[in-house]
This record gives sequence, C-alpha cells and structure tokens, in this order.
Amino acid sequence: KQPVNVIGAGLAGSEAAWQIAQRNVPVRLYEMRPVKRTPAHRGGDFAELVCSNSLRSNELTNAVGILKEEMRRLDSLIMRCADQHAVPAGGALAVDREAFSAAVTAALHNIPHVEIIHEEVTEIPEGITVVATGPLTSAALSEKLKALTGEEYLYFYDAAAPIVEKESIDMDKVFVASRYGKGEAAYLNCPMTEEEFDRFYEALVTAETAPLKEFEKEIYFEGCMPIEVMAKRGKKTLLFGPMKPVGLVDPRTGKQPFAVVQLRQDNSAGTLYNLVGFQTHLKWGEQKRIFRMIPGLENAEIVRYGVMHRNTFINSPKVLKPTYQFRDRDDLFFAGQMTGVEGYVESAASGLIAGINAARLAMGQEPVVFPHETVIGSLARYITTADPDNFQPMNANFGLLPPLPQRIRAKKERNLKIAERALERLQAFSDELYAFS
Ligand code: FAD
Repeated sequence: KQPVNVIGAGLAGSEAAWQIAQRNVPVRLYEMRPVKRTPAHRGGDFAELVCSNSLRSNELTNAVGILKEEMRRLDSLIMRCADQHAVPAGGALAVDREAFSAAVTAALHNIPHVEIIHEEVTEIPEGITVVATGPLTSAALSEKLKALTGEEYLYFYDAAAPIVEKESIDMDKVFVASRYGKGEAAYLNCPMTEEEFDRFYEALVTAETAPLKEFEKEIYFEGCMPIEVMAKRGKKTLLFGPMKPVGLVDPRTGKQPFAVVQLRQDNSAGTLYNLVGFQTHLKWGEQKRIFRMIPGLENAEIVRYGVMHRNTFINSPKVLKPTYQFRDRDDLFFAGQMTGVEGYVESAASGLIAGINAARLAMGQEPVVFPHETVIGSLARYITTADPDNFQPMNANFGLLPPLPQRIRAKKERNLKIAERALERLQAFSDELYAFS
C-alpha cells in the first residue's frame, strides 16, 4: 500500500497518524519542529500543549466530556496518553504536559510502518494526505493552502463574537425582525433603554481584557476591532455601529429602542446565535458578566466565547465534506484547528475521523460520516454546514447536537440523556462499520 502523508504532528496529526497506522496502512508523518519552530511551541515532541495543560471537563454532563468518552471508545491515542498522564484537576482532565507529549511521540515512533520526517512541508504532496498543520501553519505552506482553497477561504485571524444557546435566551424580552423589515425577519433583537445602554457601556469600557501574545499584536491592524476598543472611542461609535437601533421597531412598544444588540442564527438547526459585531478580547469571565447585562441574555449560556487570536483556518462550510475530505480533491483531508474546530480535544477528534477516513480510502473503502447525535459527528457536521459567510471556529457544545425527542427540564439529567444517546449511537455506528469493513 502507498503510505498516507500526514503533515503536522500536533494534536490532530498525531491522532490521525495513529488511526491510520492502527489499520495497518503505512504513514509518512511530517513535523517541522524542532528544525523549524512556531511562535507558540517550545520543544520538538508531538502533540505539544501550547498553553493550558487542561483538556477541560471529563464529565458526561459536559459536551467535551462526552467527546472524550467517544474518543476513548474509538481507541484514541491522545486520550490514552492523556488518561495515563493525568494530574489531579477535579472534574477536568489535566495532564503532565511533558509526559503526555513524550508518550504520544514514543507511541508513534514505536510503530514500524510510521516513518517520521522532521522537515517543513512547503507543497501539498500527491497521494492520500492529511493536512493538520494547526493554527500556526508555516508561512510557506499557508501560501499553498491559499492557492488551493482560494484566497477568500483561508483566514489568518480568528476575530469571533460570542455564541449563545438559543434555549437560554429570554424570548419574552427580545423581538424577531430584520432591519427596515427587509426580507424574512431573521434577527433576534435585544432592545435597550438609554439607562440600560449607559450601564452596559460603563461596564464594557472598564472591563478586563485578556493579554495579546507578542506575535498576535498585528491583529488589530487587520481592521477587525474588538467591541470594547470601539466603545472606548465613545458611545456614538456603538450607537452608529454594532448597537445601532435604526430600522428596528420593537412591536411591544411600537418604537425604535435606544440601542439594540442583534443576534444572528449561527447553525442550520437554529439552536445557536452569535452577537453581531461583538468580536471581543475581553476575559471570559468578563464576557459572561457584561453580556448577561443585555436584556434577554440574563441567563445566556455562552457556548463559545469571543476571541481575537492568530489562527489559520479554512472556510470548511465551503471547501470540506463531513468526512474531512477536501471537496475538490477526494484524497486530500484536513484535520485539527485548521478545519475550524476549536480546542485540543476537538482538534484530536477531527484528526481521528480524518485518519480513519484516509485509511479507509487507502484500503479501497468509502469514507464515513459520523452520526450527528455523537459529539464527534456534530462537530464535523457544524463545520461543514455552518453559514460560510460568518464562519467561526467552534468548541464541542450541546447546541450542536439535535434536541432529545422528550423535553427534560433538569439540565444535568438532560445532558446525561444526550450523553447516553451519543454513546449508544456511536456503538451502533462502530458495529456497522466493522461488520462491513
Ligand atoms: P497543532 O497542535 O499546533 O499541530 C500542528 C503541528 O504542525 C505543529 O506541531 C507544527 O509544528 C506543525 N507544522 C506547522 N506547519 C508545518 C509545516 N509546513 N510542515 C510540517 N509541520 C508543520 N486549545 C485549548 O484547548 N486550550 C488551550 O489552552 C489553547 N491554547 C492555545 C494557545 C495558542 C497560542 C494557540 C495558537 C492555540 C491554542 N489552543 C488551545 C487552540 C488549539 O486547541 C491548539 O492550537 C491545538 O494544538 C490545535 O491542534 P492542531 O493539531 O490543529 O495543531
């Protein structure tokens, strides 16, 4: 069999290489470190955790906890090494970062049919290939990706507004309308009185922001300004900008509110909404505190906080299939943060699917789409069906999963039911997969 090329031995590439090798398909794994560094990685080991040593919740009441369990059941290398090198962290799974990366590196080095090549890849190779070069993909390869996807479909910065679960929005306080009544009434509008606006404004301009990394300082020059920076230019900047009320009439008062925050549908299922124009660099705790001052969002569940950071990613809804295959080239797969999944575990999860599918293709089998009732499948579905014009990377969260047929009020119980359904669906899917392969 021809070897499958995997480019980048980060969270996604290491998992992809492992999954391919487990199916007895040879792998050529390219990693540029330590020969060439990124601005965030420090060493030469695989699957380096560039920041926190936490892989977040390990509990089945949390979507990323379910994702971990799904990955364990799919024989994930990342999960195996993380569990082996866990350090005490309450309900979270945190790891000894050095030991974790060393274990991933050793596991891949120990497989004879995995060839490891430490060099920067500057061309996308021929043959079955998984590109998993991450948010800090080297410049030379980024240029090639730009040419491949089309300039408008490759991004270098992630300037995202928070996304909230629709279920948590108080619909009695918001109204549905599009500006000037144009087209279908599409937006959820949170109306503010002058007093509410003034309180919100004060909180926003005095809130704490997260520090920008040295290599990220250029982001502000790219023309995407965080809401808190805009606010510091004066109240009018907001009232004539992202909070402008013009053309919006609250049907309950028959009047135009003093200010409006608009929410736009974020996924095709209509379970998630983003705050239009609210890209932000505020600390996460501050985002929760301040955005919950917006009428209707008092109890909003923020499933994805606003961020502004360096991130190379493709417009997956335009260019990728839910199998993680490139639409225009079936033997080219993408995985990791570059597909628009967000986070260590999510990146590894996408590598897991891309790896299984690349191996299947090498063995002459059809690539598969994971069920969307599973968290791993829901992420693949999200990144390939989200609105391409406003595509932003996404963490695992319950808003991506289809609702249960029955309504369960208690959150913990509901989440456990969703977990149960996900794991049952995964089992049935795996049984089917192995029965036919
Ligand atoms: P990576 O793990 O970065 O792996 C990509 C690999 O490809 C790297 O090893 C790189 O050296 C290699 N590579 C790049 N270009 C080439 C090339 N041309 N040829 C060969 N090799 C190449 N997520 C969290 O969950 N928690 C956090 O705390 C967190 N902090 C982050 C902090 C920063 C500064 C950044 C940038 C991201 C952070 N993330 C965090 C987001 C994300 O989860 C991680 O970046 C994660 O490592 C992504 O996995 P990946 O496999 O897609 O990329």
